[in-house]
Amino acid sequence: MILKLATTVAKNEASALAEKAKAFHITYQGSEYLITSSSVKSTPEGLQGKVDKEWVFPNDMQLASREFQEETRTVRIGATEMGGNTKNTILIGGPCSVESEEQIQQSSALLKSLNLTTLRGGCFKPRTSPYSFQGLGLEGLKLLAKMREEHGLNVITEVRDATQVEQVIEYSDVVQIGAKAMYDQGILRACAKINKPVLLKRGFGTTLQEFVQAAEFILSGGNDQVILCERGIRTFETKTRFTLDLCGVAYLQEFTNLPIILDPSHALGFRYGIERLSQACVAMGIDGLLIEAHPDPSVAKSDAAQQLTHEQFIQLKEKITPVAKSVGYTIV
Ligand code: PEP
Ligand code: MN
Repeated sequence: MILKLATTVAKNEASALAEKAKAFHITYQGSEYLITSSSVKSTPEGLQGKVDKEWVFPNDMQLASREFQEETRTVRIGATEMGGNTKNTILIGGPCSVESEEQIQQSSALLKSLNLTTLRGGCFKPRTSPYSFQGLGLEGLKLLAKMREEHGLNVITEVRDATQVEQVIEYSDVVQIGAKAMYDQGILRACAKINKPVLLKRGFGTTLQEFVQAAEFILSGGNDQVILCERGIRTFETKTRFTLDLCGVAYLQEFTNLPIILDPSHALGFRYGIERLSQACVAMGIDGLLIEAHPDPSVAKSDAAQQLTHEQFIQLKEKITPVAKSVGYTIV
C-alpha cells in the first residue's frame, strides 16, 4: 500500500506515522510524504485524517504501477532524458566489453559521428566461464570516464557484485544490473541507495512478476530512477540464443510506469537479424535500444557473434530512424 500524507504533516510526525503503517520506506515528494508499506491493506489506526490519498494494490507491483503513477517516469541518463513525454528512443551503442583505449575511442567516435549520446561497455563482466575474459575492471571504468570527458557521452556500465556499486557510480551515469545479477539482493539493495539511474535487465528465466518485484526493491528502497531492459528469455528454441519477449514488453508498457529499453543483441545472439529486429523493437515506441557493436567483432573478447561492425551500426541507425518517426519517437 502507498499512502500520501497530508501537506500539513511535518517531518517528525511523518516518521512516527510511517512506523505505525509498518512502512519500510518514506520519501518526500513535492510537499508531501509518501509511505510505502507491504503489510498494510487499509489506512492504519491513528493515520485517519492524516492521509490525502491511498493506493491499495492486489499484488507487489506498487511504485512501478501505472495505477500509482499513470505517466511513464522521466529518467535522466547523463544529459539525456527518456520516458515522461520526451518521446526519445536512446540508441545505446558500444562494445560488449571495454577492451582497450583504442577500441573504446573508436566506439565513441562512431557514436559522436552519428549524433548519438550514450556509450555502454562492460568492465566487470559476469561471465559464465571463469576462464573467459572477465573485463578490465577499474582500468575500464577510467577509460569510460575519459570518453565521457572527451566526447561528452553519457556512460553506462554494469556491476557484477554489490561491492562495485560505489566505484561504478563514480565513473558512470547509469548502473546496469545484468540478467544473471538481477536476483542479487545485495546489488538491488545497494542500488536502492544511490542517486543514479539503474538499468535493470530481465533474467532469462524471470517472469514479468519477478522482474517488476526486483524493480520494486530499488524503488521502495529510495531510488526512483529505474529503467527496465528486456534482453531475451530462455525458451525451448535453440536456434537463437534467447527469445526476445515482445509480448512481455507490451505488458510492461501497459502496466508499469518505468521506461523500457530493448536489447535485441543479447536476445538473438547473432549479427544477421539485429537490424530487422531493431526495426520491430522501435516500432513498439520504446525508450531505448541497446545494440552491441565492435570496431572488429572477429577479435571481440566477449559476445563476438552478435556484435555489429561499425558499418552495420550506421546502417541500423538509418533503418530505425524512419520507423521511430512513424510512431512519434526520435532516435537520440
Ligand atoms: C551485457 O549487457 O553485455 C550482458 C552481459 O548482458 P546480459 O546481462 O543481458 O546477459
Ligand atoms: Mn554482451
